[in-house]
Amino acid sequence: MTLSKYKQKRKFDKTSEPEGRVLKKRDPDAAVGAGRFVIQEHKARNLHWDFRLEMPENFDSGNIVLKSWAVPKGMPEKKGVRRLAIETEDHPVEYVDFEGVIPEGEYGAGEVKIWDKGKYENLESRIKNQEVRELRFELKGKKLKGEYVMVKTKYGKPGTSWLVFRV
Ligand code: MN
Repeated sequence: MTLSKYKQKRKFDKTSEPEGRVLKKRDPDAAVGAGRFVIQEHKARNLHWDFRLEMPENFDSGNIVLKSWAVPKGMPEKKGVRRLAIETEDHPVEYVDFEGVIPEGEYGAGEVKIWDKGKYENLESRIKNQEVRELRFELKGKKLKGEYVMVKTKYGKPGTSWLVFRV
């Protein structure tokens, strides 16, 4: 079930994070919202930046979610800098606007602030064995503007490590 990992990790009577819903492509909100991204500065136990792209949950799915990565050193602003991005659970589209403090003791406890937000254009995806291996997109944010590539790597925890860089 989609967003099940997201929901399992959170208690919505404790956190102000959105419980969220999965948008269908036919949902009028999906058409309006499609193609957004957000980068949230997250002062959790370890400071990191969460990068999220609004897109279908699977390569063949019509359900729209926020694909999410934790970027320990933040998204690269200059060419030639490669950063590790660790894939995390899909988030509901409403999370694109989320800011607040996740209470002590809850999953992801700490302050979340939007660092950058905007639209993006999907330029190319490489799919192998029904799995997205590479994403190429243009960010049209306030801070980040330009073309980026994300590539799944075989390093780190299998299936969750990506590298992200500007091109
Ligand atoms: Mn986070």
